[in-house]
Amino acid sequence: KKRARPTVAECVDGILSGDRILLSKAITLMESQLSDDNELAVEILDQVMGRTGNATRVGITGVPGVGKSTFIESLGKYVTGLDKKLAVLTIDPSSQRSGGSILGDKTRMEQLSHNPMAYIRPSASQNALGGVALKTREVMLLCEAAGYEVIFIETVGVGQSEVAVNDMVDFFLLLMLPGAGDELQGMKKGIMEMADAVAITKSDGDNIKAANRAKAEYQNALHLFPSSESGWYPKVSTCSSIQHTGIKEIWDIIREHETLLKSNQHWNKNRGLQNLQWMHEHINHALRKQFFQKEYVKNELMVIEERVRKGEVSAYRAALDLLKSLHL
Ligand code: GDP
Repeated sequence: KKRARPTVAECVDGILSGDRILLSKAITLMESQLSDDNELAVEILDQVMGRTGNATRVGITGVPGVGKSTFIESLGKYVTGLDKKLAVLTIDPSSQRSGGSILGDKTRMEQLSHNPMAYIRPSASQNALGGVALKTREVMLLCEAAGYEVIFIETVGVGQSEVAVNDMVDFFLLLMLPGAGDELQGMKKGIMEMADAVAITKSDGDNIKAANRAKAEYQNALHLFPSSESGWYPKVSTCSSIQHTGIKEIWDIIREHETLLKSNQHWNKNRGLQNLQWMHEHINHALRKQFFQKEYVKNELMVIEERVRKGEVSAYRAALDLLKSLHL
């Protein structure tokens, strides 16, 4: 099968001049399952690295129905209204398992998708590391090189994906429903602890009272966590994406956080640590992939798994036996 593949030079020039079509093509090469494509993509990345790193990277998460896409429309409208180019990367952890999608169809973010200042790119989390697409960070860098000054990474709050997203952004925003006092107890403490801010959504009409009550509860809960090394105290805010209220306030919180962390060096420190972790994740992924592609592993894995399940061989012995095929 033949398919017109853009050259590295075409993509680099295109990305640096903000051409969305070539940016999209480069992203497709990056996310491709073919290593030849990946090879080109990483060459493109090498050449644009000097133009990356300048965006504000924001992770946005929350359970299905909390109002993520409506919120991103509203905040996105505000941010692009400030004359900032915005890229929205949506990660759907369900797409791999069920073929279906929690994040829904293309009609999400209808307005933003017609906004010339915004670029929306969904990616399925095949080859997921903690539910996040393996290449999301590379995609983010390509967007930065294309001049996007703000990056939103959206994920559904259904598991490990929040942790992975937190590891690639500067600011982690957790969206919560109003009247969620009970939800607070059921909620994984770890996710709350990662949040740089909690935004209570749908604070309009009859919801306003409940939203304010939830705000007070979350503020109390956040007080119980140890303060972060950066000196940032997580904020809680209410908003209505439909009425566009509280949206500017959330953007102001994101900027305030950036100003603080840039003033005390934690911005770069955090990015540096993330880069390191990012490298190690790629190493882990590549080693695992190589391991599971070994003929011996492919042939023996199921047999050995069965023996381990029955307790005929220890898990440790079985692992060592399989790992021998890597000749480490
Ligand atoms: P997602 O699944 O988290 O992306 O949630 P959506 O953005 O699709 O919103 C889920 C539902 O909540 C939709 O019916 C929205 O119309 C509604 N919704 C979203 N934001 C608001 C809001 O600010 N106020 C009200 N009243 N409803 C909202």
